[in-house]
Amino acid sequence: MEKKLIYEGKAKCIYEIIGRENIYLQEFKDDATAFNGEKKQSVAGKGALNNSISAILFEYLRSKGVNSHFIERVSDTGMLVRPLKIIKVEVVCRNIAAGSLVRKFGFSEAAELSKPLIEYYYKSDEFGDPLFTLAHIEEMKIANVNEMKKIDAVTLEVNLHLKKFFSDHGIKLVDFKLEFGYDSNGEIVLADEISPDTCRLWDLESGKKLDKDNFRFGLGNIAETYVEILDKIRK
Ligand code: UDP
Repeated sequence: MEKKLIYEGKAKCIYEIIGRENIYLQEFKDDATAFNGEKKQSVAGKGALNNSISAILFEYLRSKGVNSHFIERVSDTGMLVRPLKIIKVEVVCRNIAAGSLVRKFGFSEAAELSKPLIEYYYKSDEFGDPLFTLAHIEEMKIANVNEMKKIDAVTLEVNLHLKKFFSDHGIKLVDFKLEFGYDSNGEIVLADEISPDTCRLWDLESGKKLDKDNFRFGLGNIAETYVEILDKIRK
């Protein structure tokens, strides 16, 4: 497969496939980063684990009627995806208080929220991904109100499906981040990845953290905990 790099991010690369229209290759890297790129390390096997986990989750969502850019997993570290124009909003959905909700707003870690809480972050390395509001998104002409309503609705649907899926496999879905893009018809489609890099996942029984917090706070080898997730969700 002849390919041309068109985008390189912190954890993934996107390639155009020469001779194939309307299809991109999304390759997961072993690089782990945290705190806006301040902490960086290569973790052998992470790319393949996130590719497998993301593929399982996107396939599960597809089986529930939630489409995404995901087409199929084609190698250890690669999946075919539909080309999208990415919307510069990171949508975070939370079920349980953790991370910045504890740090910035004083929530008690692990407190159950009364309902799913959605937040928007401006996807910009230059400005450090600040929390922002619908008013900013409108004013900056990133998306309109109706598009954001659709994004909220899809996010809540994804949350319901993934919460059930993970809990059926012994895992608690604490929070997660989604990204969306416009397809060639201008329709909004779920994009990016859904993996332990972008979700907080705790063991349902022990409460053990199985996600990227292990890397953020030097708690252990993330490839080992990501394998635990893959083993659980494959069962
Ligand atoms: N998240 C992400 N990418 C980001 C920021 C957050 O995937 O650039 C995910 C993170 O893994 C967690 C959720 O979004 O599952 C909420 O993150 P939080 O705001 O608590 O971020 P923190 O400040 O702890 O990174």
